[in-house]
Amino acid sequence: MGEHYDVIVIGVGSMGASACYHLAKRGVKVLGLDSQSVPNTNSSYNGNTRVIRLTYQEHPDYVPLLKDAYRLWEEIEQEAKEKLFHKTGVLYMGFPDGNAIKGVKLASKKHNLSYSNLTHDDLTKQFPQFTLPEGMVGALEPNGGYLLSENIVKTYKEQAQRKGAHIITEQPVLDWSHNNNNVTVFTKSKKYFADQLIISAGPWSDSLLHLPKLKLSVTRQVLGWVKPSQPKRFRRGDFPVWNIDPNGDNNLHGIYYGFPISNTTSEGNGLKVAWHHPGKPMHPDNITQEISANDEEEILLPLRRYLPSALGPIKKIKVCKYTNSTDGHFIIDCHPDSNRIHFACGFSGHGFKFSSSIGKILSELALDKKTSSSIGFLSLDRFNNNK
Ligand SMILES: Cc1cc2nc3c(=O)[nH]c(=O)nc-3n(C[C@H](O)[C@H](O)[C@H](O)COP(=O)(O)OP(=O)(O)OC[C@H]3O[C@@H](n4cnc5c(N)ncnc54)[C@H](O)[C@@H]3O)c2cc1C
Repeated sequence: MGEHYDVIVIGVGSMGASACYHLAKRGVKVLGLDSQSVPNTNSSYNGNTRVIRLTYQEHPDYVPLLKDAYRLWEEIEQEAKEKLFHKTGVLYMGFPDGNAIKGVKLASKKHNLSYSNLTHDDLTKQFPQFTLPEGMVGALEPNGGYLLSENIVKTYKEQAQRKGAHIITEQPVLDWSHNNNNVTVFTKSKKYFADQLIISAGPWSDSLLHLPKLKLSVTRQVLGWVKPSQPKRFRRGDFPVWNIDPNGDNNLHGIYYGFPISNTTSEGNGLKVAWHHPGKPMHPDNITQEISANDEEEILLPLRRYLPSALGPIKKIKVCKYTNSTDGHFIIDCHPDSNRIHFACGFSGHGFKFSSSIGKILSELALDKKTSSSIGFLSLDRFNNNK
């Protein structure tokens, strides 16, 4: 007989490290298994930082989850005595009838969130770094900012270990099985047993969930850092996280976004820029880290078009993975095969900011079989798919 745990978590990444922490905090015997080192540069949280914002336009039901997440970010910062969240504000820009600007207003109204409207002239005066097409306006959300994603995964792992969680890295899980009494998890050399299983394997979820009708697609995404000639104009404190909805401007689409410059090396080096759009679908193990001319163009295009004052040599480009669901919303549920198994996947390029609360939700689902958070809109049922 192998070792027995109350809960095993497969995948100690963004969601799994937080789940291990919240489980260990409840005093149960937890095992976290990851196929790689934790943190690593091959998972979905690679690239140092992630945007966090509260005026969520993707679906208004995300806002209550985000309110919990904000509270839990504060809690882990205090517990670890580490700065993990920088509140810089998030400046949204786009045409008044575009999804980004409309969405901020809708979410703010529904959830009574603060933001300020900026006309085109206001933007020119307050944020002269940008050069925007006539007609684009802005909305400034004061509570947004960015999270230090790689540091957060490391912190959650370490805090979970301090509370007694057993974390084993570089040990890929090959498969799992279940019966009426327990769940068995198989690695190449060992078997582990548990009462409950959580699967949070990010881009590799497909191979462990055995739910082909989920139709998750993994895409290659890039993030880049440039060195502007006048870095002072883009420093944290004077310059916010920004988000441009280009729809309506020529044939541009998706969302361009970026971060202020900080002098901390753990945040990358230079001005960080990215394009939120569906990249090329491929198997996660085949995603190349090699950087092409197209990748460079992806980083430079938004700067040339909207932030020419920041143009400068590219310092670094990193490759990362989105795991997309078919509707762009997360999937958090009980596995149809057994009520001992819960999973979270399909974070579709916008999940990190929620990871503090999703780890807690996963811990509640495993230990209490219910959560007080409203996650019905993220259920498997919406795909009308039981297997
Ligand atoms: C370029 C880019 C920019 C993004 N920007 C933002 C943003 O600004 N704001 C935001 O909120 N979100 C953003 N996201 C999305 C966010 O980073 C992801 O939604 C989130 O990290 C997904 O977390 P996860 O736990 O599902 O996956 P991961 O963090 O990848 O964790 C999965 C873990 O499972 C492990 N694993 C996989 N298979 C096995 C196995 N067989 N055995 C053991 N372990 C296994 C992996 O090693 C990994 O550690 C961005 C993502 C990318 C790629």
